[in-house]
Amino acid sequence: MLADNLKRQGYRLVEFGEETDLLVLNTCSVTENAEKDCRYAVRKTLRHSPHAFVAVTGCYAQTGATQLQKVPGIDLIVGTQFKMNLPDYLPAPAKLQKQPEPELRHSRTIDREDFVLPGTAYSDSTRALLKIQDGCDFMCSFCLIPFARGRERSRTLDDVLREARDLAAHGYRELVLTGVNIGQYDYKGAALVDLLRELEAIPDVTRIRISSIEPTTVPPALLEQMAASTKLCHYLHLPLQSGDDGILQAMNRRYGVREYEELVKQALALMPDLGLGTDLMVGFPGEDENAFANTLTTAERLPFSYFHVFSYSSRPGTAAARLDQPIPPPVIRQRSKQLAELSRTKTLGFYQGQIGRTVPVLFEQGERDGFRTGTTANFTRVAVAAGAVEAGSIHNVTITGIMDGLAYGHPVATVLAPSHRPLL
Ligand code: SF4
Repeated sequence: MLADNLKRQGYRLVEFGEETDLLVLNTCSVTENAEKDCRYAVRKTLRHSPHAFVAVTGCYAQTGATQLQKVPGIDLIVGTQFKMNLPDYLPAPAKLQKQPEPELRHSRTIDREDFVLPGTAYSDSTRALLKIQDGCDFMCSFCLIPFARGRERSRTLDDVLREARDLAAHGYRELVLTGVNIGQYDYKGAALVDLLRELEAIPDVTRIRISSIEPTTVPPALLEQMAASTKLCHYLHLPLQSGDDGILQAMNRRYGVREYEELVKQALALMPDLGLGTDLMVGFPGEDENAFANTLTTAERLPFSYFHVFSYSSRPGTAAARLDQPIPPPVIRQRSKQLAELSRTKTLGFYQGQIGRTVPVLFEQGERDGFRTGTTANFTRVAVAAGAVEAGSIHNVTITGIMDGLAYGHPVATVLAPSHRPLL
């Protein structure tokens, strides 16, 4: 969305790594490594473009503004409150100049009001991200996000629908709903299920996918709606974080393992073809051998199609940063590896279970080694011979095998040809 607004001001987008006059970094602060990546990106860009004006925004700009002011080469730091106004703080392209010290646009507090966003977030994919919500009130003990993004607030219903229509009109076949805690969407009494119903009613919208959603915010009505819909993808990413009740409690998560399993059972009863992803955190303080073994067995037992594994990283100011019993880094690395291997095995098992099925696949841009890949509604990645399909099209594909960690298949019928409107 920032890129869209900058383009309207006369800027031209270049690939990261190419020479540039302006670097805008939308940063993450969820782990210490994410912050390191930001500082590295500044250094790397200034090496090939020493004259580049560097503007940093996002979560790190909110929580680490003082630290960023000391990083050489940064010209503008924009906190969460002012993030979407960033293009307004920049001069016209011809007048960009490096500053002797960074200008700071930052406030400690962040508005709690529901919001609208300027413009449309065009991406270079056939799937578009559609932001519906921001902020979080849950205060998990390890998480910096409530400090970086502020309290929960929702994007106005009209503004979400406006962008959704625009994206569909530009040929995006799949809308991925995003936010910090999207299950908490609530605009003047309209909840996520109401928003989904409105989105489904837009004729050009083909597929709607819900991104990561907190397990305690998935009501039965949402599962039923997903099961009955022809547009809502049968896919849930439900962050579990740990398979040990003691650790979940110390994390200030709002569920126990049994409740989580119950939710998964309900979802699968309605949607046997569900794609189920999760996040698992390893190395939370106090995660002893027994607690990790509980995570491992839970991850083995539940029908996950993949999981993301995160190493715990102490974030200053969070409740968990004050806990003792830290886990040594080599143990964290070993546990992460073990879970990552299990995730690969689970993914292959999930894909294998689909051999012989014929399912619609939305194909992405770009080919590799003679293959084009796409995704099914349950987020199986499928490869077919590149010449057989076009980017942006949806084809029914019969899945015949597994190849290089992907499902492989043959297209049997076109469901939807690519849009003739160019993707931006
Ligand atoms: S629900 Fe998610 S964003 Fe909110 S505090 Fe917990 S981990 Fe952080």
